[in-house]
Amino acid sequence: MAWDFSTDPAFQVELDWMSDLVREEIWPLETLDLSMEQVGEVMKPLQERVKERGLWAAHLPPEHGGQGFGQLKLGLMHEILGTSPYAPFAFGSNAPDSGNAEILALAGSDEQKDRWLEPLLAGQIRSAFSMTEPATAGSDPTLLETSAREDGDGWVLNGRKWFTTHGSIADFLIVMAVSDPDAHKYQRASMFIVPADTPGVTMVRDVPTMEHPEERFGFFGGHTEILYEDVRIGPEALLGPRGAGFLIAQQRLYPGRIHHCMRWLGVARRAFDMLCERSLTRFAHGSLLSEKETVQNWVADSAAQMQAARLMTLHAAWKMDDQGVAAARQDISLIKFFGATVLHDVIDRALQVHGSLGYSTDLPLEAMYRYARAARFYDGPDEVHRASVAGRILRGFEAPADGVPTEHIPTRRAAAQEKFAWLLEAATAND
Ligand SMILES: Cc1cc2nc3c(=O)[nH]c(=O)nc-3n(C[C@H](O)[C@H](O)[C@H](O)COP(=O)(O)OP(=O)(O)OC[C@H]3O[C@@H](n4cnc5c(N)ncnc54)[C@H](O)[C@@H]3O)c2cc1C
Repeated sequence: MAWDFSTDPAFQVELDWMSDLVREEIWPLETLDLSMEQVGEVMKPLQERVKERGLWAAHLPPEHGGQGFGQLKLGLMHEILGTSPYAPFAFGSNAPDSGNAEILALAGSDEQKDRWLEPLLAGQIRSAFSMTEPATAGSDPTLLETSAREDGDGWVLNGRKWFTTHGSIADFLIVMAVSDPDAHKYQRASMFIVPADTPGVTMVRDVPTMEHPEERFGFFGGHTEILYEDVRIGPEALLGPRGAGFLIAQQRLYPGRIHHCMRWLGVARRAFDMLCERSLTRFAHGSLLSEKETVQNWVADSAAQMQAARLMTLHAAWKMDDQGVAAARQDISLIKFFGATVLHDVIDRALQVHGSLGYSTDLPLEAMYRYARAARFYDGPDEVHRASVAGRILRGFEAPADGVPTEHIPTRRAAAQEKFAWLLEAATAND
């Protein structure tokens, strides 16, 4: 019987250390308008402390300088690091570099690992993952149009991508392109490593978004539109087997969703703490907000939702560690849309309880609210995950041959009367 909800005490000590570091050294940075150089400078001593503590790049196996943590430990860690956009940089686990490092570790050749993975892990270079296109539905990557045409022993890429996070500051791009248009729909695409300065690669712009509405270029957190025009790359650029783009992307996306859900819980918890604190000081209509039933419902509902999402997410992480990614697919889809809703709901209530202050930039709630909105569609929109979960569940059911619901009481009563006729007859005979 193994059904344990406790954290290993030795690892809890590490989590407490992370939590203190993030709150005391990193949260204050959020209030400053730092340049990329300044962020790099302030991060260096923190990164050294993290490395000394043995917590650097925890997502990768030890042979690549990581800690080999499973998804459960990583999940607990991401819950803390997710509370601040800067925290993952201090721990060598910032997206998209962490996911790209996982792809390279998984599918890269020895040469690719030497050239790209090692300096990426050392924090000397940056990477981006370039899959989504403006002209095709990102939620259905079988529709990708960016092409990879064989040319001699190399390849020529053509296409337009956007929302390539960190594209404008990346040293290399992992590009998903159609290498085999006539193959099975899940075997049409391959992945390629493209140095960002390859001729034909044009960084068109960093797309202004709800999270970063101002037009600017080359910043942390930017999402880049990129034009690939006759981009010539050698055979060494192919990452993993030809036609294995989907397979590799799935390996990256499933654990990535667990990481996202735990980061969201970290953000939700921060918003929840603000909700509770404000309710204890704001007075209106004869009582503190904490004494109003509606606000009490918000506190209780938020706590219940966060606990449910946390247990579901840690359970999915445990399942992935225990039984592998395929076994955890449904659990991961469940948490992806449920976690995104919880994140939104808790921030929304916290913002509401603060009124104008919550809406203003004097608190981080409005920024959290904008950040939370995208969670409902990146890494698979809610609708796609719901459909996938429902499809898997419904496969376990069969339509009754006669169309009558299995639980139909008159039908069940007739069957029961037949089955227990001896009992009913005996009861009648005793009358
Ligand atoms: C902050 C952020 C970072 C990102 N980073 C990256 C990155 O680094 N690299 C990268 O390649 N991409 C990135 N993306 C893009 C992201 O992966 C896509 O936005 C996502 O896959 C959805 O694709 P789309 O935007 O084209 O929406 P579409 O595919 O056009 O979908 C739009 C809507 O259609 C509906 N829909 C779709 N399918 C179904 C269905 N089966 N049933 C019912 N409704 C459906 C949903 O409501 C969905 O929201 C990022 C996006 C964001 C917001």
